[in-house]
Amino acid sequence: MAVARTRSVALVGVTGRTVEVEADVGKGLAGIHLIGLPDTALSEARDRVRSAVVNSSYPWPDARIIVSLFPASLPKRGSQFDLAIAVAILGAAGVVPAQRIADLFFLGELGLDGRIRAVRGVLPSVLGAAGQGGVTVVVPSANSAEAVLVPDAKVIPVADLRQLVEWLRKGDDPPQPEVEEYVEPPKATDAPDVDLADVVGQPVARRALEVCAAGGHNLWLLGPPGTGKTMLAERLPTLLPELELDHALEVTAIHSVAGVLPSSAPMMCRPPFVSPHHTATAAAVIGGGSTIVRPGAVSLAHRGVLFMDEAPEFPRHVLDALRQPLESGRVTVSRAAGAVTFPARFMLVLAANPCPCAQGEDKEDACRCSPTVRRRYLGRLSGPLLDRIDMKVTVARSSRRELLADRQFVEPSKKVAERVLAARERAAKRLAGTQWRSNAEIPSSVLHADFRPSAEAMHPMTTCLDAGTLTARGLDRVVRVAWTLADLADKDTPGQDETNAALGFWLGVR
Ligand SMILES: [Zn+2]
Repeated sequence: MAVARTRSVALVGVTGRTVEVEADVGKGLAGIHLIGLPDTALSEARDRVRSAVVNSSYPWPDARIIVSLFPASLPKRGSQFDLAIAVAILGAAGVVPAQRIADLFFLGELGLDGRIRAVRGVLPSVLGAAGQGGVTVVVPSANSAEAVLVPDAKVIPVADLRQLVEWLRKGDDPPQPEVEEYVEPPKATDAPDVDLADVVGQPVARRALEVCAAGGHNLWLLGPPGTGKTMLAERLPTLLPELELDHALEVTAIHSVAGVLPSSAPMMCRPPFVSPHHTATAAAVIGGGSTIVRPGAVSLAHRGVLFMDEAPEFPRHVLDALRQPLESGRVTVSRAAGAVTFPARFMLVLAANPCPCAQGEDKEDACRCSPTVRRRYLGRLSGPLLDRIDMKVTVARSSRRELLADRQFVEPSKKVAERVLAARERAAKRLAGTQWRSNAEIPSSVLHADFRPSAEAMHPMTTCLDAGTLTARGLDRVVRVAWTLADLADKDTPGQDETNAALGFWLGVR
């Protein structure tokens, strides 16, 4: 009887946890028994591993094989354990030296012909393994670009089982990753070719965009078609600074788990822009899936922008599900197998037409929707959701004269982004030593304890609270935006000018 052990990684949300894989080859009825995998994954892994070993011309032990994956309690979905299972069996059978594989991590799916296929979530898996310190991780060649982003992990890319076995036997220098050495994050390849200077005739909306970018706030744009709501939203990322390294790794990990990381750009350095269509399923927007729980649009937009065009057209339960991530920066997806939590701190931009017919007012076939129809349409955006939208702006069609007059005020994104960066640095300095970097992230309790503006500056809000036009949650939003306005104005604390302006933005569309 021979035993060999090795390691792999299971993903829980976007966190990698070590899985021990043990193969035991001994007397008994020939056959393979897998312990610690769910039934369906079990039979598929068994078939792939056996075919891959046989088709790579290695002997398959004619014995009773027991493979166990611990801890049994970890959810182990997907096919990334194939490689570790195969290597453990080959170790127990004496094909590769058992002591060589004991300290390595293996990630990868096996093709029936022995090829090693790419798997999802390699970046967070390698990050999880690297937590053990000084680790070596064997990954599919196709995933090596994202694996080498992790500092403190030695990455061995392999294309097929033969190449891997020969390396384990000879103990030579490992095959080199295709991406030779990690120097610094590659510059954004997704640099948008749109610019804020393209949006002429909407000075208030441009200003709102700048404030949102500076503080990380949410925005609602209300107006008829053709007023540039989509143009505005698409330009928000152009005002945001590049992601700092830790945030870039978070964002990249989520996209890796979702399987949507472009192989040409393994590190995501720009804030993502995600725009789900209103026909998208709740799982696609919030996260979900039947076997593997995958992050939805709210998590793909983490540290970036989630744009929901024609927001009232989204199903009510999808809109309501936005409330949790808007409040906490994370989203919990519950499934029969258990709950998974994904990061989801995004800037929400909602756009809405004033009525369901989406006709303008100045056409021949102008809108004939009654006030009741209009009210009911916008009523699909619930009060609790709109409470969480910091800024609400109405956009109207501009006249020729307004367009001409505004032309001299438009600025390129680059210039606005400089002001945004300066304001963000001001906020980050104030928040130094905390886990928050922008005003939007400050929790309510901390906001009122440590960052409450003076009584005089709070005066406009107290009046609205008394009159019932401002909710407690709305008050928090107003105070956060007031801080951002102070940061943009290079002031130490918000005064009444800032709180008044912030209140105006929050009340916005009435
Ligand atoms: Zn209408």
